[in-house]
Amino acid sequence: MRQSLYMIPTLRDVPADAEIASHQLMLRAGLIRQTASGIYSYLPLGKRVLKKVEEIVREEMDATGAQEVLMPAIQPAELWEESGRLQAYGPELMRLKDRHDRDFVLGATHEEVITSLVRDDVKSYKKLPINLYQIQTKFRDERRPRFGVLRSREFIMKDAYSFDTTKEGLDASYQAMYDAYNRIFTRCGLDFRAVEADSGAIGGTDTHEFMVLTEVGEDTIAYSDSSSFAANIEIAPVNVTYRKEKESPQEIEKVGTPNTKTIDEVSSFFSVDKRKIIKSLLFMGDEPVLVLVRGDHELNEIKVKNSLGGAVVQLASAEEIKSVMKCESGYIGPIKTDGIRIIADHAVKAIVNGICGANEEGYHFTQVNPDRDFTVEGYFDLRNIQEGDPSPDGKGTIKFARGIEVGHVFKLGTKYSDALGASFLDENGKTQTMIMGCYGIGVSRTVAAIVEQRHDENGLVWPAEVSPFDIHLIGINMKDEEQSQLSERLYTDLKQLGYDVLFDDRTERAGVKFKDSDLIGIPVRIGVGKKAAEQIVEVKLRSTGEMIEVAVADLPQKLVELVRERK
Ligand code: ATP
Ligand code: MG
Repeated sequence: MRQSLYMIPTLRDVPADAEIASHQLMLRAGLIRQTASGIYSYLPLGKRVLKKVEEIVREEMDATGAQEVLMPAIQPAELWEESGRLQAYGPELMRLKDRHDRDFVLGATHEEVITSLVRDDVKSYKKLPINLYQIQTKFRDERRPRFGVLRSREFIMKDAYSFDTTKEGLDASYQAMYDAYNRIFTRCGLDFRAVEADSGAIGGTDTHEFMVLTEVGEDTIAYSDSSSFAANIEIAPVNVTYRKEKESPQEIEKVGTPNTKTIDEVSSFFSVDKRKIIKSLLFMGDEPVLVLVRGDHELNEIKVKNSLGGAVVQLASAEEIKSVMKCESGYIGPIKTDGIRIIADHAVKAIVNGICGANEEGYHFTQVNPDRDFTVEGYFDLRNIQEGDPSPDGKGTIKFARGIEVGHVFKLGTKYSDALGASFLDENGKTQTMIMGCYGIGVSRTVAAIVEQRHDENGLVWPAEVSPFDIHLIGINMKDEEQSQLSERLYTDLKQLGYDVLFDDRTERAGVKFKDSDLIGIPVRIGVGKKAAEQIVEVKLRSTGEMIEVAVADLPQKLVELVRERK
């Protein structure tokens, strides 16, 4: 490809609204442009990388025996009604009507469509197991689209769905995907880790997220410093035995605490450790539930939901708190609550002479003792694990890392096959429900994650397998007859050898060309410069900066060593 005609609108300056390196660099290197908030166009260079990642995904999926399909982005709303998700998915689901006023949605995911397809066309155990996948555009009206294509509203996903006759079959299908994902992300040159994740109502460790480890990741991973334990903090269980403090319970007291609402304020008002404070949070669902955690702990909403049997609950708004508790949020507590359900984290049970809101503006109770002063329906694990906690597997201590979720493998069970009636006839002619798994990879997010991990102060540093081109050939001074001729000849020869070559044939200054080349980040750069007359070129490796002079005659051999083996 000749750079003079190629659309790579590189930018010198860092775009003001791009917060993280990958977003900045994808804009600066001319890979993407924003069309609307969270909606992007891929320019030629970006599209090439996307294609490379898609190809890796496709090869590895095909190698497992999965079959590629393509489902529609526009889906009838009735299908989502059938699965019960039309309401449950909420405002992230983009909805539209056709000219006949029929309701449709833009696919955020494809469980409904695939299950209905398999339901209608696969009837016998003889046709199972089957795993179908597609690489396709997804739509999610994210509350906070950000970081470029890392969290966008339209993005490219590989989604696969497995259908099995037995639970053991599902385990095998799941393992095959898990292994394929490891190969895919390794080939993408990523430093990643598979971690246990939230499986919602299904429970257990039947789901893993593939996390690319980087500071800017939106997820927090809790891992053990001395075992293989790693989980999203959303689900990492806390395995701590709390011992009741050894002081004797005192009489409860109501104390005036004007303008003392937050845990920090209460802690400094009373000069006590936050461990003494009982933090109360109100959740709304079918009925209000008051949830208690220790002042120094962070509440985990997923654990709250799971402890309530997968109920749909969310933190109450300021107005809801006022109307339920008859008091402002900073002063609510578990005492005198008019029979509201109360659940608490295990740590709360061990508090002696603690402090909590008095359900009266400007007051707190002190010398509060759980089970004496208020009744708790049940004690559960409701807090986030913290650094320094013992690892839940009993081996070592918890540390934190940040990660970007690029993939997700999930044992669905019969949730969708039950709802949509996907069944098969077994060997005995008996009708049984198919057992499903689903497996997603954020293809466009993976591109951004690669950039996030593989760049330096000068620009992108592509791993060879996903680089938009194999070689960046630069005619350093195209006005010089010898340089121009040799670079033109090399351009033809290198293409003939099967390499993808970006040829900088522009008549720009050398400095500009090198800067752009570093920014674009193709692994191998060949500079045709002053020694063109002697048939010598400069070969520079983007990743190390190492530069060597190579005689043109030796170039093919040298490139075999430097560029990954051609297929
Ligand atoms: P997240 O927690 O980041 O919102 P998710 O749990 O909603 O992700 P899944 O429904 O499991 O994601 O989708 C499968 C994959 O699609 C994710 O692992 C991620 O790589 C990608 N993905 C999800 N949402 C987005 C988005 N808004 N933009 C880009 N990629 C996304
Ligand atoms: Mg999401």
